Amino acid sequence: MALIGGAYIYYYFVCKRKLWFYANKITMEHESDLVQIGKYIELFYKEKHKYERKVIINEISPDVIKRYKDFVLVFEIKKSDKFKEAALWQLKYYLWYLKRLGLNVKGKLVIPEYNKEEYIELTEKDERKIKEILNEIKRIISMDKPPREVFKDYCKACAYYPLCWEGY
Ligand code: SF4
Repeated sequence: MALIGGAYIYYYFVCKRKLWFYANKITMEHESDLVQIGKYIELFYKEKHKYERKVIINEISPDVIKRYKDFVLVFEIKKSDKFKEAALWQLKYYLWYLKRLGLNVKGKLVIPEYNKEEYIELTEKDERKIKEILNEIKRIISMDKPPREVFKDYCKACAYYPLCWEGY
């Protein structure tokens, strides 16, 4: 079984088919300009604030982790708020994961381009939902075939568009 990283949670909300492709190592993200722009925005934000370039804790790789006296603040940096629900659950997953390691955690969703910041705390309800999401992700990614394509307004900007809609 694949390790569940933050991108799995994000893609679960964006598109279940995309999640399946990604989990089954069919990666085309390097071809997407939007993904590259998102990575540059994240890098620029980290350079500006002098944060670590890379944070990896087992399966997860939060964008930034900042330690305060009583808690740890976990950042998720996004290009826009187009997939805000996905970004929030990705961040909540990091909080849930780190809480299980015994850390007192809070989250901060940052959208530098729009000067937006939002602080997040993990609730018991969130924790229950994360367990359901993880079970559902495990079920989807272990399917023999990807879920059927369902057209969305952002398909044309998706790196997997040729696989879904052009008989690639
Ligand atoms: S092109 Fe659309 S249906 Fe296909 S993986 Fe991307 S978002 Fe999903």
